[in-house]
Amino acid sequence: MRQEAAQPALVVRDVHKSFGALKVLKGISLDASKGDVISIIGSSGSGKSTFLRCINFLEIPDQGSFHINGEDVEFRTGRDGKSYPSNARQVERLRSGLGMVFQSFNLWPHMTILQNIIEAPVHVLKVDRKAAIEKAEALLAKVGLYEKRDSYPAFLSGGQQQRASIARALCVDPAVMLFDEPTSALDPELVGEVLKVIRGLAEEGRTMVMVTHEMKFARDVSTRVMFLHQGQVEEVGPPSQVFGAPTSARCREFTAAGS
Ligand code: ADP
Ligand code: MG
Repeated sequence: MRQEAAQPALVVRDVHKSFGALKVLKGISLDASKGDVISIIGSSGSGKSTFLRCINFLEIPDQGSFHINGEDVEFRTGRDGKSYPSNARQVERLRSGLGMVFQSFNLWPHMTILQNIIEAPVHVLKVDRKAAIEKAEALLAKVGLYEKRDSYPAFLSGGQQQRASIARALCVDPAVMLFDEPTSALDPELVGEVLKVIRGLAEEGRTMVMVTHEMKFARDVSTRVMFLHQGQVEEVGPPSQVFGAPTSARCREFTAAGS
């Protein structure tokens, strides 16, 4: 049997980010091979969302380098104190190749579910409208929402809205899917249907980075778990290590409290 070398889907090196005097990320790195599911855990305020937002450049890091889907981009702070990418146009392109799912769904309220999903493919990526609709319908069927395609978000439950935003993120064929606490705004009875969709994506071999408070889920689906504390990686390893035998006492306390 031929052993294929793991291909890096995402390499992040030494990301720093401050908001004014507040140092939020103090040199975070992450490696994901194709098919890896990386969960990021840690207490509120530890920098999880900021790190995820830096990966798709919703926040511009002060410093750091990124290898995403075969392309490299680096950020440095100039003499004016502002941060600049090594290539400006590349940032837009790389961002459009990442799928982001937010805690609060972030669907456009004035667009139907189908319109929400085809918005980026048609208007940003200039995909043919008919092809985008076909793909969106297939993705809606996959997340169990085909019959809701002409509804507005206000008529969907939180779980349905979150499944729709997962379909929207998938519609750009992302190299990496990013999830920021995708279930923490949901009523408890709706969490399962969203986790089921995410689990399905993991089983398909999608590369994913996920911030989550669902410890049992993270333990089940992750190839690696990263525990952040005050903007630094305090523990990283396979779930068996991070949840079962962490070297950091803080990580042990956190996972014991959260499970
Ligand atoms: P987590 O997702 O782990 O709860 P965040 O990344 O959201 O943490 O926040 C980390 C720290 O950065 C917090 O102290 C938060 O208040 C601060 N922070 C996040 N975003 C901003 C921002 N846009 N402006 C100023 N401070 C911010
Ligand atoms: Mg957060």
